[in-house]
Amino acid sequence: MLYPSYIELSRTAFRKNVNFLKEFVGDDVLFSSVIKGNAYGHGIEQFIPMAEACGIEHFSVFSADEASRALLSCSEESHIMIMGMIANDELPWALENDISFYIFEKDRLEAAAEAANSLGKPARIHLQLETGMNRTGLSDEQLDECIKFIKDNRKLFSIEGICTHYAGAESISNYYRIQQQIKNYHRMLSHIEREGITPKRRHTACSAAALTYPETIMDMVRIGIAQYGFWPSRETYMHVLKNGNIKYKDPLVRIMSWKSFVMSTKEVEAGDFIGYGNVYLASKNEKIATVPIGYSHGFGRNLTNMGRVLINGYRVPVAGLVNMNLLTINVTDVPDVKKGDEVVIIGKQNGEEITVASFSEMSNYLNYEVLTRIPSELPRYVIE
Ligand SMILES: *Cc1c(COP(=O)(O)O)cnc(C)c1O
Repeated sequence: MLYPSYIELSRTAFRKNVNFLKEFVGDDVLFSSVIKGNAYGHGIEQFIPMAEACGIEHFSVFSADEASRALLSCSEESHIMIMGMIANDELPWALENDISFYIFEKDRLEAAAEAANSLGKPARIHLQLETGMNRTGLSDEQLDECIKFIKDNRKLFSIEGICTHYAGAESISNYYRIQQQIKNYHRMLSHIEREGITPKRRHTACSAAALTYPETIMDMVRIGIAQYGFWPSRETYMHVLKNGNIKYKDPLVRIMSWKSFVMSTKEVEAGDFIGYGNVYLASKNEKIATVPIGYSHGFGRNLTNMGRVLINGYRVPVAGLVNMNLLTINVTDVPDVKKGDEVVIIGKQNGEEITVASFSEMSNYLNYEVLTRIPSELPRYVIE
């Protein structure tokens, strides 16, 4: 089947990112690859085997449904950790499949104990501490209740981790809050250890924290955006650059490209409107190419008359409305455009590049959002 557009994942680029990040955080630190949100739009099923081929054996997801997809794609050696949503009645399934999960309420801890008891197998848990994010996490009081419960049911638990998450490590404006969180984490961790509970791993760092606050790296890092080749923010990049921590200028390279092709071409005359309504008027005789990608595929309608794509090494504008399934581009200045020519939506062609960020106005969280909105139905291929 010929799909109207498709995603390519570069294994070489991924390996480069992982090598840089592993070297940055240190060899003895476990690298957990965060693959929530369909592996940030890269596709869980295609991403996992590629990551495993590059030495990754630990994957973090948000929820049980993502974990079940990951489970089907990963090898026996790999471990899956759920950082967020799992219903209590799914906990036996998690235990059976050696999936570990966060505990941020005593309710889930009790349900995990029940599952462990009936399966005769300890629940692999991570105690998530409330250090200042104020989203999920055990407060001091809740932690004490959980500690007591764990001590009373020692055999039912394997304490895989003590963890927390930072409230915006990618921006210096959150510096004070992050410092407080680091302090709180250590205070609570000491308390837990004084109670005789020692976790296998202490883990707090996402990409931005690992790259900006080395003290947050500990025994394991949970790396999302950076492994896909994106800096969490410009600030993070500047910070790493400024500290001279990198040997080469661009240690992170984007691994995803999004491509389509020319479906058909057409010559139009000066004064003709193109597509629906009067959105685009040809100001001279022009050559228009149609590309079978539209807003139903994630190419936003807001890119009407605004978006750019690459064709034969040229950057060309969208001409007229972005339709549901197709768009029209002005290829007047590109020699010899014909049916079947490759069109790059995101990625490189002959030295030109369309970045993910160019899909909308600049903002820190833009890459995360644009990536995860790329439809999961698009086919994804791993290339070398
Ligand atoms: C998403 C997430 C991460 C990874 O964040 P990045 O900024 O993409 O590296 C780490 N930890 C938790 C708890 C998360 O939800």
